[in-house]
Amino acid sequence: MREKREKFVFFVIFFVVLVHVLPLFADSTASSDLRALPDLSSTDLSATDSSNGSRLQQANKATNNEANNQALLNVPKKSAEEVVEKSFTVVLDPGHPSENGNGCTGFGLKEFEINFEIAVEVKKILEQQPNIKVLFTKNEVNELVKNIQRAEIANNARADLLFRIHCDSGSGSGYALYYPDSQGTKDGKTGPSAEVIYKSRQAVEKIHSGIFSVLEGKLRDNGIKTDRQTFIGKKQGALTGSIFSQVPLVTIEMIFLSSKNDADFIRSLEGKKLMSQAIASGILHTALSEKSAR
Ligand SMILES: [Zn+2]
Repeated sequence: MREKREKFVFFVIFFVVLVHVLPLFADSTASSDLRALPDLSSTDLSATDSSNGSRLQQANKATNNEANNQALLNVPKKSAEEVVEKSFTVVLDPGHPSENGNGCTGFGLKEFEINFEIAVEVKKILEQQPNIKVLFTKNEVNELVKNIQRAEIANNARADLLFRIHCDSGSGSGYALYYPDSQGTKDGKTGPSAEVIYKSRQAVEKIHSGIFSVLEGKLRDNGIKTDRQTFIGKKQGALTGSIFSQVPLVTIEMIFLSSKNDADFIRSLEGKKLMSQAIASGILHTALSEKSAR
């Protein structure tokens, strides 16, 4: 009788333990699943962000570190909202050699070589975007192309933008963007048209903000200037390339080759990457704005 009672008590205790302890195991399994889930979902979210998020935001963030820089180079080809909807043709014009010579030199660097090298990198980045067509005004680094011909290449391509790439020299540091704000005259030709002036102004603002977002804190920003603030533009009213251009155009002076700081920047792999990404970001900024303008 006593044994039976002990057995009964044992079973009661066993049952109580079973009822109370098993759910605890079940809970702990469930909660560990829950802990795993947020991790997974946050990974998913970041993946969604990078594929659907603004590429311009990516460009902005790309200044921070090497990993982010790499992220810009691998810009997703498709994005739900910020795809360049209509095809956008940009003609990249690496400055020199031209009728104005090979450009400036400094600290062992040659302007025409830097211009070409950066243009090639910009092309690589932009061609990852759908609907962006990138053309060049020259095929070889040493190829001599006159400034009138450079404009005509963009005209014949009916480009949405002619983007001219140069380096400056003199006393100063950093980058500046130039656009024609008035007509000039060269070889009996007066230009560009009021429409080209207007559209160049719109483009230079977009390009500047895209470039600034990448180069902020890395390289001095000298802002937006006009052709007439250049040596040749002052004499002619506008730069030769601008006078003959029938499409919107913007010129960048990326650095001052006379500045050791700037020369060191553009000589470094990091500096080249940043400059290429900055220019690509600026052009992309303009291309994306076309969607609302049309
Ligand atoms: Zn130049």
